[in-house]
Amino acid sequence: MQRVSSDDAGEPLLVALGGEDCPWCEAGTLRRETFKGDDAVVCEDCGTPAVRVW
Ligand SMILES: [Zn+2]
Repeated sequence: MQRVSSDDAGEPLLVALGGEDCPWCEAGTLRRETFKGDDAVVCEDCGTPAVRVW
């Protein structure tokens, strides 16, 4: 999981990653969600957060 400062272009990164295939499982697709209150990109199948913006 990457940790990206919200001051460091985190939002465009989340937009870019949404809809990508999950790197950790075969079936999953990444989608934008909140993870523990922060914006993140999370796999809808295995639930692994790919990027979380702090
Ligand atoms: Zn996955």
